[in-house]
Amino acid sequence: MVDMRPGAKLSICIYCGSRSGDDPAFADAARAVGRAIGERGWRLVYGGGRVGLMGEVADAALAAGATVIGVIPRALMAREHGHRGLDELIVVDTMHERKRLMAEHSDAFIALPGGIGTFEELFEAWTWLQLGYHAKPVGLLNVAGYYDGLLSFLEQAVGRGFLSQAQRELLGVGTEAAALLDRLAAAASRSASGGDYREI
Ligand code: AMP
Repeated sequence: MVDMRPGAKLSICIYCGSRSGDDPAFADAARAVGRAIGERGWRLVYGGGRVGLMGEVADAALAAGATVIGVIPRALMAREHGHRGLDELIVVDTMHERKRLMAEHSDAFIALPGGIGTFEELFEAWTWLQLGYHAKPVGLLNVAGYYDGLLSFLEQAVGRGFLSQAQRELLGVGTEAAALLDRLAAAASRSASGGDYREI
């Protein structure tokens, strides 16, 4: 069993699409993230599938020498093609358990392009941060302008008084994989003491 305690080796949780989208830039970016995690000697924690961008990030991370942990609900093993080549594939009973384990065993979260599952995971990690459930940095990799519409909506939400600027700034946005990873890693080491997930 792989030691999944965060801290010793930086663990990066990646949320991303179970599809690949319409632009090869998305898969390129997923591979760049996986490679950068491996090159830094860090660990990838992700949803455990072999489909879409999930498969790209995992395979690139493995090829670059990263430890890769997947967490997948039993019911999704067939649909998301549970990846058998990982250091550890943890099969859980529920989506809640998946998300809790992924969060507990990571030091920082990054969302890549994706669909409804990715949106949900990103917003959950971000809301948990602003509520103080954890103090782990949360980032968004905006590849090929995919999240431009979301980012302008968030500006609108600030302008319309439903989101504070401070809450908005808790989400770190970048367009380049390695630079965003390094920024979040620096933030993760600053908040290491307050990094544990806790119920409030
Ligand atoms: P998607 O972005 O929709 O392609 O999904 C990306 C990942 O999010 C997949 O591993 C999905 O299983 C997962 N996912 C789908 N729905 C949810 C949800 N409600 N909460 C958390 N993860 C989800």
